[in-house]
Amino acid sequence: MAVPNAGGKAPKRLHLPLTFLLFLFLVGVVFTGLNLYMWVAYPAKLNAIDSLYGEISRRDQTINRLDKENKEIQPSIERSREQAKRLEEIEKMEAEAKLLIDAVKNKGSRAVPTTSSRGLILRNRLSENISNEVVGDDGIDSRLATLDRNLNILDKELEERESAVNKVLKDLKNTVYVLDHTPSVWPVSGRITSNFGLRKDPFTGVSKRHNGLDLKAYTGQPVKATAAGKVIFSGWSSGYGYKVEIEHGNGYRSVYAHNSKLAVKYGQQVKKGQVVCYAGSTGRSTAPHLHFEIKKSGTPMNPSTVLSQF
Ligand SMILES: [Zn+2]
Repeated sequence: MAVPNAGGKAPKRLHLPLTFLLFLFLVGVVFTGLNLYMWVAYPAKLNAIDSLYGEISRRDQTINRLDKENKEIQPSIERSREQAKRLEEIEKMEAEAKLLIDAVKNKGSRAVPTTSSRGLILRNRLSENISNEVVGDDGIDSRLATLDRNLNILDKELEERESAVNKVLKDLKNTVYVLDHTPSVWPVSGRITSNFGLRKDPFTGVSKRHNGLDLKAYTGQPVKATAAGKVIFSGWSSGYGYKVEIEHGNGYRSVYAHNSKLAVKYGQQVKKGQVVCYAGSTGRSTAPHLHFEIKKSGTPMNPSTVLSQF
């Protein structure tokens, strides 16, 4: 390159190294390349980023929707959990009550619980309901409606089961009450020394009706109530000596006579097998023993016959 010189001096040649020229050329190439990239590639990148943002936003919406659905379905899930617990409790009560009733009916022999088919029937009803629903619409509303229908079926089932178990328990309580208040326990374990019915009076020798049993007992031997009931007499009675009489509430009364000592008071509630007095020989008695009577609706019964039912 030549630069004109005003001073008329010979023009100086500008010498640039070849390497520098090469460098300039390369810079030019790179710059042009970058420009091209910015024009062509960058908008494509921007588009890609844009669509990624779109995707993220769609996913956020899905997450929010699922979260909302989850919240809507939560009360139903809670409801079904409570129902399951309730059902479990009812089933336990049923099994227990049935076992007790069977045990009572079989007079103590071991009862085998029967497996209920009701659970299976219920499961079938529920699965029918579910399978009828699995057509096309998979929306939350449809699924919630199915769930609610199932929960309603369960509610109805629980009500039926509850009333059934309540009936069983009521029957059981009645049975237990009746058994508890029916004479079944021997007051003492001694043998019978004088039977029920006509016999010669030990004092007069005259044939006379004996309204109870005489049971061998030693003085001070504990005497047990033959059944649960209320003490309607506890004290001295002419001929009977120290006497206890119990009203069992279902027509039965029992009498324990010639005792040495009383263990209960008038009006007291006693349990079956509870000690109510101690044997002796008070009143018209020749030796220590227990005079034991059972009356049904006022009529003297043979205690052997009554107690032999058990
Ligand atoms: Zn007697």
